[in-house]
Amino acid sequence: MKIVLLGAPGVGKGTVANFLVKKLNLPHISTGDILREEAKTNKELREIMNQGKLVPDDFISEIIWKTLKKDGCKKGFILDGFPRTATQAEFLEEKNIGFDFVLNLKASEEEIIKRLSGRRICKNCKAIYHIENIKPKKDGVCDKCGGELIQRDDDKPESIRQRLSVYEKQTAPLIEFYRKKEILKEVNADQAVKDVLNSALGALR
Ligand code: AMP
Repeated sequence: MKIVLLGAPGVGKGTVANFLVKKLNLPHISTGDILREEAKTNKELREIMNQGKLVPDDFISEIIWKTLKKDGCKKGFILDGFPRTATQAEFLEEKNIGFDFVLNLKASEEEIIKRLSGRRICKNCKAIYHIENIKPKKDGVCDKCGGELIQRDDDKPESIRQRLSVYEKQTAPLIEFYRKKEILKEVNADQAVKDVLNSALGALR
């Protein structure tokens, strides 16, 4: 099954992806995770991301193309964070990469800001936590691998504002694009985490 997760930053795409990966046994392709790894040794990339801007279409499209061509992605995948612009969606069309479902996660702006500002990630395994909604057993320590929990540089207020504005301008128009293709499913992401996860799974029918 080939699934794309659409939705504003902070809406819970990563958390839903981690859940679906386990349920469906598919690889999780997170462009954010790939780029954060790359940015450790690439200052220019780090700056773009910390400012909450998008990296160039051709740069990320090339990475996605290489990833999707790998054997592990043949039977399906969960694509989280791509496409994010019309050019990226067109790139997938040109390469004939279709999807079974595009899940559009929707939440209020108030909830999104709360989630982004309280989000913590494991420095080591990238697991996602929240200071109120998804607490680790021990403060600041990842339940899964014992790694340190940190705040992403782009989860600070100025970057959050920029990322939400970029989302509205560049990514939100893709909702209509996939609705017209009749593969779009809406998921109410304003609910408690476990209900969002069940709604996402239920939408894949
Ligand atoms: P995310 O973890 O999905 O919120 O992505 C973090 C950051 O990585 C974004 O704010 C962008 O700077 C960059 N990024 C991730 N995916 C893409 C994409 N498809 N196109 C351009 N930039 C991206």
